[in-house]
Amino acid sequence: MADGAGERTYDAVIVGAGFSGLYMLHRLRGLGLTARLYEAGTGVGGTWYWNRYPGARVDIESLEYSYSFSPELDAEWTWSERYATQPELLAYLNHVADRFDLTRDIQFETRVTAAHFDEAANRWTVSTDKGEAVSARYCVMATGVLSVANEIAFEGADSFQGKTYRTGSWPKAGVDFTGQRVAVIGTGSSAIQSIPEIAAQADHVTVFQRTPNFSVPAHNGPIDPAVAQDWAANRAQYRREARETGFGIRMVDQQDQLALDADAEARRATFEARWQVGGFALLGAYGDLITDLSANATAAGFVAEKIRGIVKDPQIAEKLVPKSFPIGSKRLCVDTGYYAAFNRDNVSLVDLRETPIEAITPTGVRTSDATYEVDAIVYAIGFDAMTGALGKIDIRGRGGAALKAQWAAGPETYLGLMVAGFPNLFIVTGPGSPSVLCNMAVAIEQHVEWISDCIAWMGARQMGAIEATETAQAAWVAHVNEVAETTVFPLANSWYMGANVPGKPRVFMPYIGGFPAYRDKCNEVAANGYEGFAVSSDAQRG
Ligand SMILES: Cc1cc2nc3c(=O)[nH]c(=O)nc-3n(C[C@H](O)[C@H](O)[C@H](O)COP(=O)(O)OP(=O)(O)OC[C@H]3O[C@@H](n4cnc5c(N)ncnc54)[C@H](O)[C@@H]3O)c2cc1C
Repeated sequence: MADGAGERTYDAVIVGAGFSGLYMLHRLRGLGLTARLYEAGTGVGGTWYWNRYPGARVDIESLEYSYSFSPELDAEWTWSERYATQPELLAYLNHVADRFDLTRDIQFETRVTAAHFDEAANRWTVSTDKGEAVSARYCVMATGVLSVANEIAFEGADSFQGKTYRTGSWPKAGVDFTGQRVAVIGTGSSAIQSIPEIAAQADHVTVFQRTPNFSVPAHNGPIDPAVAQDWAANRAQYRREARETGFGIRMVDQQDQLALDADAEARRATFEARWQVGGFALLGAYGDLITDLSANATAAGFVAEKIRGIVKDPQIAEKLVPKSFPIGSKRLCVDTGYYAAFNRDNVSLVDLRETPIEAITPTGVRTSDATYEVDAIVYAIGFDAMTGALGKIDIRGRGGAALKAQWAAGPETYLGLMVAGFPNLFIVTGPGSPSVLCNMAVAIEQHVEWISDCIAWMGARQMGAIEATETAQAAWVAHVNEVAETTVFPLANSWYMGANVPGKPRVFMPYIGGFPAYRDKCNEVAANGYEGFAVSSDAQRG
């Protein structure tokens, strides 16, 4: 294909209008490039556009889970609570889109179905479900790590005569459960956030649990004015400090001291103090919680004790205590009244390990020992994480090779940013980068800035294609696995491992070496003329 013959041409196509895509568009515009952004939804916001279930809110304090690239934006936006609700996050992202005049380059209600690399032209042809095809030098996948919900695979699900809801595509108008009997299937983060709210409204809620999760209280509320003032006065410094922590979260207040060096009483007091702070602070209490199983067990034991203390019925409490994986090895949930909800008369728990779901019937949920008649079913069954959205696009690189086939045994990338054989294709927070193990706002900004710097570098040298080398990629994949093996993470059947999707290869996808080490590696690679990447000019193409 000649450059753009018969097609609209852009310097870049971006897919997805969440946190990643919005900032990517802003940066590329800043370079004076033309970009087209495609978004399947009717508006911006990504995660915060789709996940409108009751109780949906961020689990990292909003002062930290927000953009830092614009001090003006940062200073003018005020969060009303420590952990913003979905509507507030959506309003924020709409504000960002307006403030930087982004929507004029965004095409909504358009799903990208294919992206094929044209080796002769060093360009991507990107096709959509609206029958369009455009040509772009660069293609940036800002498609999200938790944007494709798992399939509902229960027999008879279509036969259900009541209302069916999915947490990840909740009706915009909201749902009134008053007077209804509701089944909630799943006990991951979305279920944990929504169950207390649904229970406060519904006649009865039956929670169907396969695997209990660890959850810690958010202690949400208005931001303490003193905290807000201090943050405003020291914003730049605090943002920098966040970027120097392993998980990109300053408020975790990560300590190096080892849990196993502390005596039991002191450890308990430390955990208690952190439980009172709320959120991920608990995991920052000691430096060995995610690397040493015995240390991890001290934190897990503390939370188990809390669950037993909150839930009045000892049998229900025992079912809610996770026993099959180390704490933190699945994403720690942050809740408002989750365990206490099981003390309500209108909430009951069905343990699917004991009595699995056999089928959804026209009137309810049938397990191996009972049928639960309900008016509505809420599926909170998680996401095809990290690779799901990319797998839904027919992405073809050199020689027509399909990314999906290349990743059949698990995703392989260089730095989570690029894939060998797929020149000029960037992934924001892809597998092999800290991504979901980090404050995503921090991870996203770093990736978007690295990608736009790379594109600027290519432009300044009039280069046509950049691509990860097989060697650099193989070394990085080996490193990602090696680091994961030194932690407790691979011990859980988590979505980090792809274990929640039948047939998905069991591979630890994100990079657990810590955000600062990862960022330094990315910077070093760039400073060394994009070491580990092959760069060519258009004259050298073909
Ligand atoms: C319920 C929930 C709570 C979360 N809470 C936190 C949290 O507290 N802290 C944290 O750090 N992270 C959290 N996350 C992770 C969250 O996904 C990221 O923080 C962040 O919002 C990701 O932004 P993104 O732009 O990369 O992806 P997304 O926000 O997922 O946006 C991707 C967009 O791409 C679009 N898209 C995908 N494929 C296509 C296609 N083929 N064509 C067109 N459009 C497409 C989607 O419609 C979507 O709008 C949460 C995720 C979920 C689901």
